[in-house]
Amino acid sequence: MRAVTVIPGVPGSLRLLDDYPEPAPEEGPILVEALAVGVCGTDIEIIEGQYGEAPPDTDRLVLGHESLGRVLEDPTGTRQPGDLVAGIVRHPDPVPCSNCAVGEWDMCRNGQFTEHGIKALPGFARERWRLQPRFAVGLDPSLIKVGTLLEPTSVMVKAWDHVDRIGLRAEWQPRTALITGAGPIGLLAALLASQRGLSVHVLDLATEGPKPALASALGATYHSGPLDRLDLQPDVIVECTGAPAVVLEAMCRAGPNGIVCLAGVSTGGRTIDFDAGALNRTLVLENNVVFGSVNANRRHWEGAAEALSKADPAWLASLITRRVPLAEYGIAYSPGPQDIKVVLEFDT
Ligand SMILES: [Zn+2]
Repeated sequence: MRAVTVIPGVPGSLRLLDDYPEPAPEEGPILVEALAVGVCGTDIEIIEGQYGEAPPDTDRLVLGHESLGRVLEDPTGTRQPGDLVAGIVRHPDPVPCSNCAVGEWDMCRNGQFTEHGIKALPGFARERWRLQPRFAVGLDPSLIKVGTLLEPTSVMVKAWDHVDRIGLRAEWQPRTALITGAGPIGLLAALLASQRGLSVHVLDLATEGPKPALASALGATYHSGPLDRLDLQPDVIVECTGAPAVVLEAMCRAGPNGIVCLAGVSTGGRTIDFDAGALNRTLVLENNVVFGSVNANRRHWEGAAEALSKADPAWLASLITRRVPLAEYGIAYSPGPQDIKVVLEFDT
């Protein structure tokens, strides 16, 4: 069968194989035919050779962690043939650590977890894959064209879940949220904020293209100026750019008792002149919290499936700015300036 693969660590090794083996029964009893995979920055880093690890018995890693497929067979009866499913990306470490032992693999403490399409497990950019029932998440049939958004949504559901848990340290009635960065992750963070009834602000550099309208369609206020000119005291800031200057400014900008979630990943190596004393003063005197968030566990995936089923289907579809058939896979991994989310389709 066909599969999109790379040799991790070897730039230029991206290949569509047509003789990739059928999924091994050990992967799980649920056999799934791929419908689509979403493309994200991690895939491009893997293709550039910066990241990624092949499974132990091979030198090639199948890409794809933002999955959507249709069940072909499930002898366990957990899913019915025809059901839409996505596969949970991260599997718990084999030790397991105290978090993985209770299903909180998103909080793995020893780093020995594995991840489909990223770290030691084949990804979902292959025509068929298998799942164990506990790693299969069902989607409403109405999500057939947008279900690959489940994985990035799960990451943002976790971020909001942790905001809530931190908020519960005291009386917590948030009203205003600021999302920095209007890429797919930022816009999905804004969707979840609007579903919570918050007054939502989205900040991004873009002044044209689809981002301003996508934010407005959620009822959010879109800003394209610098963060330090924004006259706002948000209760929650979800930082999705990873741009060091924005990250530092975001940490200083939350209102009293505010919570700042860092969800963007910076590339290191750049230093910025920064008043750490002023940041300390703000955090202490305002009871503010800054925390990082990555990945998601099953509870978050299920929350994401629910959030997507409640969202406007047309809005979700407009996040997908390009759909590329599998045969033209190469262009899926070269996002253009107007792209928000690119999806590689298996059924066209
Ligand atoms: Zn662990």
